Amino acid sequence: MKYRYSAWIVALLLSVSGCNSDSKTVIELPVEGGQGDNTSTDNNGTNTDNSSDTDNSDKDNSNTDDSDSDNANSNNHVKETKEEVIKRILSAQGADSTTSLALKDFEIAEFGCVTAANLSVIQGYFNTTQDELQLAALKHRLCKVVELFELDSKSLLTPNRLKEVGLRGLFFEDGKLDQWAYDELILAIPESHFEYAALQGAVEDFHHNQSSVWPKQINISFDDGGALNSIHDHLDLFDKYNATFTYYVSHYSTIDHSKVADIENRGHEIGHHGVIHRHAKIYSEENGVQKWIADDITPQLDAMRRDGLTVTSYAYPFGAYTKETDREIKKYFTHVRKFASWSSVIYRGERSDRPITTGLSMDSHRFDLDKIQNAIDTLKGGETLYLATHVIGKTGNEWYITPENLEKVLAYASAKGLKFCHTSECMNFKGNTTN
Ligand SMILES: [Zn+2]
Repeated sequence: MKYRYSAWIVALLLSVSGCNSDSKTVIELPVEGGQGDNTSTDNNGTNTDNSSDTDNSDKDNSNTDDSDSDNANSNNHVKETKEEVIKRILSAQGADSTTSLALKDFEIAEFGCVTAANLSVIQGYFNTTQDELQLAALKHRLCKVVELFELDSKSLLTPNRLKEVGLRGLFFEDGKLDQWAYDELILAIPESHFEYAALQGAVEDFHHNQSSVWPKQINISFDDGGALNSIHDHLDLFDKYNATFTYYVSHYSTIDHSKVADIENRGHEIGHHGVIHRHAKIYSEENGVQKWIADDITPQLDAMRRDGLTVTSYAYPFGAYTKETDREIKKYFTHVRKFASWSSVIYRGERSDRPITTGLSMDSHRFDLDKIQNAIDTLKGGETLYLATHVIGKTGNEWYITPENLEKVLAYASAKGLKFCHTSECMNFKGNTTN
């Protein structure tokens, strides 16, 4: 009380001496914490003059630069009624960073959740939010912001809690969670003490990365040992568009190893597609997962690596798998590709950070250039369009793509600036960026 009184005297002297000619400065009288009516403070009647002085400075000035230092020292406070303080708090929502609300303000306005320990978080909220809530809703919101700050583990940071504090950019317009935004947020933030402004910043970083930093990618893959010659014959076509692909090899022991090596040496990726193209689901259910690995994975993987091939990627024959094969196969490869070839297959990109992806069939009976082009056009940064087929050139069945159609895809993707990626590159898309 003694200090506050002397602070007021200094303020009065400044005012009288004309040092207060800067109209931005607000002189405020001391007030008891939580009391709404400032005129009831014990200023021994000397506040009469001062009150007329401060009337001039008024509320218009209360949010100016100079008032920051005054507000920061909450003892300087007041002359505002409780209603005026509340009005100032409400109007501080979404104001720029020059706005600073003092602990005293929240005490006067009876915001029970705001304390000295979380004041900076609350100030960060005011400077960051774009919501303009009414009093009751704002009080509730700030309590939720404080709750968030007091959490001590990321595992407690549920989407619902983030919804309660009104984080922008985390939910789609239909109210559904943007899972990727959420995942990136969790990656970016510290393990505990979640500050609203930092969370909002992390979500905004994600959207910035997605819209203008992360590359849009395409991975084209060909499957089966039987496709080898047709692929080898068309390497120049890929060079023409500076394009790369992944070739998933089966029956390695029966095909020309030098051609496989050629393909890798020309800048493409060699993957694994089974020793004899076994059906992983049927074979593992009948013989056990370990037997499937021993019979259809390791012998060929060892042989390919002995020959100096870099093999980090696997594609399921027939696109067939089980949860158990998924779990086991990840011990041998960093990337696993499934396969979608149903008649209604929808071409679209998927998150590039996923170790298990789905190649969308562009075999002859599924090929639809318009839809592929649309998928390319709507790709977002950080997404990869995985297109899969088999032989290049007409065969006796439908599992091929004509060179003409393949070139149309390559040309379009190239013209649209997509990055052709090996699976390891697709996944490491964040490292691919220069920012
Ligand atoms: Zn196959």
